[in-house]
Amino acid sequence: MLPLASLIKELADLIIECEVCGNLDTKSPCSICTNPKRDTKLLCVVEELGPKELNLDTILKRVTESKIEEIIIAINPTLEGQVTAQYIIELLKNLDVKISRLACGIPMGGEIDYLDEGTLRIALTSRQDIK
Ligand SMILES: [Zn+2]
Repeated sequence: MLPLASLIKELADLIIECEVCGNLDTKSPCSICTNPKRDTKLLCVVEELGPKELNLDTILKRVTESKIEEIIIAINPTLEGQVTAQYIIELLKNLDVKISRLACGIPMGGEIDYLDEGTLRIALTSRQDIK
């Protein structure tokens, strides 16, 4: 157990928070931010926690100081997630940037008969034209 604990501590000492996106990596900017294949015009806001953990000041700074054209909000479709998404939208709505969010609704492989009313309602309201 001690060698494993030692390795975990060694790994924990190497991990740092990316100064750009807040991702955890062994370098900053992280491997995602420095990936040349990354589309720098898109910013995807992902959260699993509340507004405090979103680094919204950093997001605002990135949007105003860079060439980000669209912010994609990728937040869980829970009540807390909806409130957080609305909070972010209110914060960013005056900026000259497109704001979108991930679609909600029927999961791949899912069956309509087994959907709850809320999921079906969101799937209907967020339907897309196919022609
Ligand atoms: Zn990063």
